[in-house]
Amino acid sequence: YRATRTMFENLTDRLEGVFKKLRGHGKLTEDNIQDAMREVRIALLDADVSFKVAKQFVASVTEKAIGREVGKSLSPGQQIIKIVHEELVSLLGGDTAQIELDGRQPVVIMMAGLQGSGKTTTSGKLAKMLKDKGRRPYLVPADVYRPAAIEQLQVLGDRLDVPVHPSTTATKPVDICTQAIAEAKIKNYDTVIIDTAGRLHVDNVLMGELQEIQAAVQLSEILFVADAMTGQDAVTVADKFNTDLEISGIILTKMEGDARGGAALSIKTVTGKPIKFVGVGEALDALEVFHPERVASRILG
Ligand code: GDP
Repeated sequence: YRATRTMFENLTDRLEGVFKKLRGHGKLTEDNIQDAMREVRIALLDADVSFKVAKQFVASVTEKAIGREVGKSLSPGQQIIKIVHEELVSLLGGDTAQIELDGRQPVVIMMAGLQGSGKTTTSGKLAKMLKDKGRRPYLVPADVYRPAAIEQLQVLGDRLDVPVHPSTTATKPVDICTQAIAEAKIKNYDTVIIDTAGRLHVDNVLMGELQEIQAAVQLSEILFVADAMTGQDAVTVADKFNTDLEISGIILTKMEGDARGGAALSIKTVTGKPIKFVGVGEALDALEVFHPERVASRILG
């Protein structure tokens, strides 16, 4: 989570200046809260948090800070850090989120997102994570537009020793999915991971195709995969996928790079859906459970 930490180090730096000023004041006043909140807002915007979400966050923290009795043991600065921290954790989802693996087997997980967001790689990573936990994943390439995409997943499956459905570009994605699930039942695979086609931009043909799969197959998860580096854009795209498909969770990729982490806050707030995992590298073991508390604590704790 280096990227996220950078964002918050930034924020901490900014707040330190304000807290220095606050030291000596006995209590939180509307004035010193406003000073601190200005810094919070700037830091959030710098970190690529959407304007609306930053505004919402600041309003919520301000309200909590003004209403709060300052305990004797905490300075006003510490008090504000505590409230910002609590609010960050809450906004990021409160607790870690699991993926749904119970219920009728095989469970079926569909990965969705724009081209290049990391769907195929993340499908492989997820298969590895589940295999390491003792499950029997089955990888299903359902991108019939790019033969290379089918091959890419086949290569990942070979490396991981995870079976890959022999999809062909001549078959409709929805038929690939139903055939693959039938195959999984016969072979006793308990987790079907469908890697769907992406486009460079959201388009209705793609959405229609995903909705067709959604209607034909009982999906236990629709995981929206987003590139954390794309910041603001990722928010709009996430909103659209959530509206059209009712996603069940989010995976943010490329979180180890220079991404400023704001996408995490914004996407979570806009969709209301949990961030379940983060991708932190190209290697197949570079997938981590998303920990809101850990992220917030590392920053301001
Ligand atoms: P897709 O088009 O959505 O299937 O995207 P791919 O899985 O092909 O990924 C696009 C590129 O992003 C590839 O070069 C991946 O190696 C890379 N990638 C995916 N996830 C991560 C990540 O968490 N960190 C980094 N650094 N690169 C990633």
